[in-house]
Amino acid sequence: MKRITIAIDGHSSCGKSTMAKDLARTIGYIYIDSGAMYRCCTLYALRHGLIDAHGRINETELERRINTLQVGFAYDAGRNISLCTLNGDTVEGLIRTMEVSAHVSPIAALPFVRRAMTAQQQAMGREGGIVMDGRDIGTAVFPNAELKVFVTASDEIRAQRRYDELRAKGEECDFDSVLANLRERDRIDSTRAVAPLRRADDALILDNSHLTIEEQKQWLLDRYAERIAD
Ligand code: C5P
Repeated sequence: MKRITIAIDGHSSCGKSTMAKDLARTIGYIYIDSGAMYRCCTLYALRHGLIDAHGRINETELERRINTLQVGFAYDAGRNISLCTLNGDTVEGLIRTMEVSAHVSPIAALPFVRRAMTAQQQAMGREGGIVMDGRDIGTAVFPNAELKVFVTASDEIRAQRRYDELRAKGEECDFDSVLANLRERDRIDSTRAVAPLRRADDALILDNSHLTIEEQKQWLLDRYAERIAD
């Protein structure tokens, strides 16, 4: 059976990764969370003092070092999850904090950061058989993907999901800050000059505001089955 490329894009915290991960597991494809890669660049910049207290980024230094950042995904068979690694170290928990969320969109808007991450993403997907989620996968990373989905849900529902997720991990946060952060990320992601967040013309739209995880999983599986049958 042919192994296609599946691009899942959409707004922040709309459940893209849950559905992308589920689909990849069910059909035996590789799953890549491209947002984790931009989060790794942000974590690196924070750890190395390349973002100051006012949020200003030392672009010259980050650009000089960007090609030394190698993002990978290691499979943890015991827990049946994939863990993001940065230059060989597992950073999965560290990249999901509010601090990283607060700085990631300006980092992801830098053209040299996008160039470096896009090249790594394209190398990961060269053979097909991949589900990748993000903001620009169907438009910039894999414009020829056989199946493209653009996911969205209302701001409040997305913020509630993200808030619940952070609280479940034990992170202190309040709902209004989570809502403000995702709106701000959407704004920066949609208005940046390079590879902005937008629906590819040939992407199917999925508004999952009122769908259960099971329902959206089934919806995506059905779309995949249609594409494979084409
Ligand atoms: O998907 P996630 O919310 O973890 O992504 C974190 C951030 O990384 C997004 O808010 C966006 O700024 C950036 N991103 C991007 N392009 C992608 C994936 C994520 O610019 N393909």
